[in-house]
Amino acid sequence: MLMIFPPIAKPCEPPAGVALLSAALKENGFPCEVVDANIEGMLHLIRSDVRLTDPWSRRAIKKREEILSELKGSHLYSHMDRYHQRVYDLNHMLAISVDQKRFKISLSDYSDTHLSSVSSRDLLKSAVRYKENPFYGFFETGLRDRVQESASGFVGLSVCYLNQALVGFALAGWIKDNFRNKKIIMGGGLISSWMSRPDYTHPFDSLIDVCIKGEGEQPLLELLGQSRGTKKHYVPDYDFVKKDLYLAPGRVLPFRASIGCYWSKCRFCPEKAETRAYSSQRASRVLEDLRTIEQKYSPDYVHLIDNAITPAFLKALSHERFSFKWYGFVRFEKDFLYPGFCQNLKESGCDMLKLGLESGDQAVLDQMNKGTDLGMVSKILKNLHQAGILTFVYLLFGTSFEDKAAARKTLEFVKAHEASIDYLNLAVFNLPKFSEDAEDLKTWEFYHGDLSLYLNFVHPLQWDRKQVKQFIQKIFKKEVSATVRKNPAFFSSNHAIFFK
Ligand code: SF4
Repeated sequence: MLMIFPPIAKPCEPPAGVALLSAALKENGFPCEVVDANIEGMLHLIRSDVRLTDPWSRRAIKKREEILSELKGSHLYSHMDRYHQRVYDLNHMLAISVDQKRFKISLSDYSDTHLSSVSSRDLLKSAVRYKENPFYGFFETGLRDRVQESASGFVGLSVCYLNQALVGFALAGWIKDNFRNKKIIMGGGLISSWMSRPDYTHPFDSLIDVCIKGEGEQPLLELLGQSRGTKKHYVPDYDFVKKDLYLAPGRVLPFRASIGCYWSKCRFCPEKAETRAYSSQRASRVLEDLRTIEQKYSPDYVHLIDNAITPAFLKALSHERFSFKWYGFVRFEKDFLYPGFCQNLKESGCDMLKLGLESGDQAVLDQMNKGTDLGMVSKILKNLHQAGILTFVYLLFGTSFEDKAAARKTLEFVKAHEASIDYLNLAVFNLPKFSEDAEDLKTWEFYHGDLSLYLNFVHPLQWDRKQVKQFIQKIFKKEVSATVRKNPAFFSSNHAIFFK
């Protein structure tokens, strides 16, 4: 089978979902070829001929290959300002490679002023009008031969993010129109979220032959004729990853140790609203997989992409000594209260942890059901920092539990812990459409479109989005000192780990 991961996602590491599907197919005797059309398509646009009208574009294009190569070397990551210059140059090349009046493309986003990615009608229009898509040229030059030469009657499209939706559907339309004998299968995180909606009406049946919700391994195997009861556990197959293709200083491989979130209680979290069942293998089993990946692919970095790495797996990791560095999302676990444990994690290869603090007000955390104690957070941040593990702290402003005074407490908490916070991610809350909280609030659509997953709401404490954004820009960012590092543009935590 041919499996394609469409643009746009951050081009710094290969996609994890298709790697797992590929392993499942190959282990059961089905050939599988994976194409990361995201990185290939982006490079196609970056390297395309554009009409140069201004000095910035001329300068950037002249240094195009140099910029790409700098982003793959480690030197650039010791100079934050120069890094940003390079990233903005690259992003500019991508932006000017398309009709800017209609499309807005960046290294992490895709939008079309004519079509909405949360409207099923517009997605189907994107399929019909695939020739208008900025990646159409890449479909023809980069994908045509591969689709043609694939012996399988199926082409799989993995759509995980909203920024992939319009291009993914344009790609589906192109396949449908050009390869009448191929059946299209579509799956991935975004498709699963849409299919989980209680009001989902299967709007893509005329275009997509099979839509898969949730983990795709078993449904794919059954589609190919494999009976039920086959092996359910696979180690991701990264054979498709071409050397030096991705924009990172070394080989980064994503790895998921668990599905869903073992906590699943935070009231604001879409993970809770989607009720994706949590599942995980035994920690020792997952470690074996990680060791297999280490031996087979010699990664420089492993990105653990779990929603929250489980305490059991963290413990298991702390006893290991890997040849790669690793990072991932964790909760403020009790084990981090022990400096020795943090030191062991560091020695295992942990260079950075992403921590969802959300708020510096205990009352807000309690109402959110976050299960976090601020007294613990203080000690944990200090212990991680002392162990030499970078801390990337995520804050969420504007939930229905927060008012301005609570947001101010978050600011004070951050100021008091600046010495042990390396990076901050500041987000404004979007209300998940099918969450319990949405039932009690006065809401209206956030984006127009039948597939939108978020709502706007009347804030019960009169702390609306506009005020929240002003607070972040005019107060929070000004008062937090420069000891907290600048968040890498477009790549954020995916590149933050490389700055020592
Ligand atoms: S820990 Fe993170 S992923 Fe899990 S429910 Fe809370 S916010 Fe969601």
